[in-house]
Amino acid sequence: MSFRERYDLVKAECEAICVAHGRDPHAVKVVAVSKTVGLPEIETAIAAGAHAFGENRPDMLASKAAALPDQEWHFIGNIQSRKIEEIVRFASLVHSLYQPHHVAKFDAAAASLGKVQNVLLEVNVSGEQSKSGLAPDQVALMLEVCEQYSHVRVCGLMTMAPQGNADVARDCFAQLALLAKQLKAGMDPAKAQYFNELSMGMSEDWREAVSQGATIVRIGRALFAEDFDEPHAQG
Ligand SMILES: *Cc1c(COP(=O)(O)O)cnc(C)c1O
Repeated sequence: MSFRERYDLVKAECEAICVAHGRDPHAVKVVAVSKTVGLPEIETAIAAGAHAFGENRPDMLASKAAALPDQEWHFIGNIQSRKIEEIVRFASLVHSLYQPHHVAKFDAAAASLGKVQNVLLEVNVSGEQSKSGLAPDQVALMLEVCEQYSHVRVCGLMTMAPQGNADVARDCFAQLALLAKQLKAGMDPAKAQYFNELSMGMSEDWREAVSQGATIVRIGRALFAEDFDEPHAQG
């Protein structure tokens, strides 16, 4: 299959799952995670209709976004203080903010570039040691930290589910959706209006994520890898 065929299949199935769950068929943005490919593959993806790309290394984000500035670039990787300025320069949405001491740095970088940086807070719903992110009960406090800065806008939450079990993944996504709903209900309306995104679901579990309310899925191998093996069909 070509990128275009894989992308069209993902989009069509995504719409079908939305409809099956009573959601707007266009409620989900597919971010093509391009971290393992170069500019030629990204150009092929653009020709096939993909316009939102995800990168997990600041240097790769910078070089690819500088080469293809008309695309929407998402930063989904680990954040280091000294890379924040570079991330802010190129990212339309940062999915992976969770450290309170990074917020002031994002604010300062965004202010100096004359932008408001849209961010998601990464939550470690599953509690796996290997995963980064806020514990669910720490998110409210992190929101309070972010509220002190006018150049950082929290647009929602992000998580990564444990791999290998569709039921476990679905439960993890349901928990993130519930947490977001509870937090939004307690928010000042001026902040709540922007708090709408749930970034959840990757190649192996994006269907479960869409069924549980994902508004953004981050898909790498299932779009870019010719030999990607579907782990399980949708039940
Ligand atoms: C690599 C990556 C993805 C995409 O993973 P695939 O399994 O290739 O779809 C999604 N989110 C994050 C944070 C990643 O690092």
